[in-house]
Amino acid sequence: DHIKNVSDHGAQNYDLSWVGFIPGFRESRRLEGQYILTENDVRANRVFEDAVAYGGWPMDDHVRGGLMDFDKNPSRCFNFEGCYSIPYRCYISKDIGNLMMAGRDISTSKMAYGSIRVMGTCAVGGQAAGTAAAMAIRYGIQPPKVAEHMDELQQTLLKQDCYIPGFANHDPADLARDARVSCSSAAEGCGAGNVINGVTRTVGKESNVWESAPLADGPAWLRLDLPKVQTIREIRLTFDPNLSREIMPSITAMVRNRQCKGMPDELVRDYTVELQRGEETVYTQHVKGNYQRLNTLKLPTPVQADSLTLTVTATHDYPAARVFEVRLY
Ligand SMILES: Cc1cc2nc3c(=O)[nH]c(=O)nc-3n(C[C@H](O)[C@H](O)[C@H](O)COP(=O)(O)OP(=O)(O)OC[C@H]3O[C@@H](n4cnc5c(N)ncnc54)[C@H](O)[C@@H]3O)c2cc1C
Repeated sequence: DHIKNVSDHGAQNYDLSWVGFIPGFRESRRLEGQYILTENDVRANRVFEDAVAYGGWPMDDHVRGGLMDFDKNPSRCFNFEGCYSIPYRCYISKDIGNLMMAGRDISTSKMAYGSIRVMGTCAVGGQAAGTAAAMAIRYGIQPPKVAEHMDELQQTLLKQDCYIPGFANHDPADLARDARVSCSSAAEGCGAGNVINGVTRTVGKESNVWESAPLADGPAWLRLDLPKVQTIREIRLTFDPNLSREIMPSITAMVRNRQCKGMPDELVRDYTVELQRGEETVYTQHVKGNYQRLNTLKLPTPVQADSLTLTVTATHDYPAARVFEVRLY
């Protein structure tokens, strides 16, 4: 009413197209867990032994009184370098055996809360808590006891393409880890061996990706030779959708306008996977129009094979193939 009808704001002919009908509070109650994440952990990019999620948003500090704190700066933002891990202990209650937290109610100090409260961090923590809850049901135990199966929880999350800073795939069931890897070509610092190094995103100076020569020079192929014939039921390929690209959902035109629209150029679009036993091809799958980072190919029937060849023929627009990981089960 004030903007439209009182004073001259140039808004007399504006229509109200959207309004939030429940006031949203940026800060709410937190539950105390077995560990309280602090500002020091955030700033130190601390890697916890029981890390299951991560965050990287700056620490926002909102005044306690909200709009009524007239004399204070309503919001301050404390930046830090890198990203930090969040331990499983922040997602389980300090003293209630069957209570878990997921989202912004997890166990943190006020300052650390200013960082973990954003949607992406709530989402990855939610996946960690949900995966742990499923394990608790499967083992018939309460959430705190899942800590005794921490390696299994972390490896399950990594297999589902979660990221845990400082942790790598060492899943003993992944047959690709023992493979000898070769390729058609590789860009500097992006060798074929990266597809089994266990880390599926670029970290600091480590690309952790295989990148071929330009596809215009010919098809790009990657080959994994296993030490012996194995039964293969599932192939998991992790491609590169360029996670540095800004895709934050926003109602602010300024933020929307600076985002790249459409599919990420780097993502592999068309490819063929073949499994061989010696000279014989025992499984072939052509994929066209891929739009996902993690491609899980479940074989209709298990096959006996001792090598895999992945041939990339097109990306969404990037000149070369980029593959972070190949797993075989
Ligand atoms: C104004 C504002 C702007 C923000 N801007 C951003 C931003 O730009 N980017 C960003 O990443 N984050 C932003 N955030 C932060 C982020 O949106 C929240 O911190 C985050 O969504 C919290 O997720 P959550 O799952 O913990 O809680 P919620 O998303 O609040 O989910 C809790 C759910 O539980 C339901 N619920 C409550 N009680 C019960 C009950 N008894 N039974 C069943 N269900 C119940 C609620 O209806 C709700 O759906 C913003 C927050 C606010 C308030």
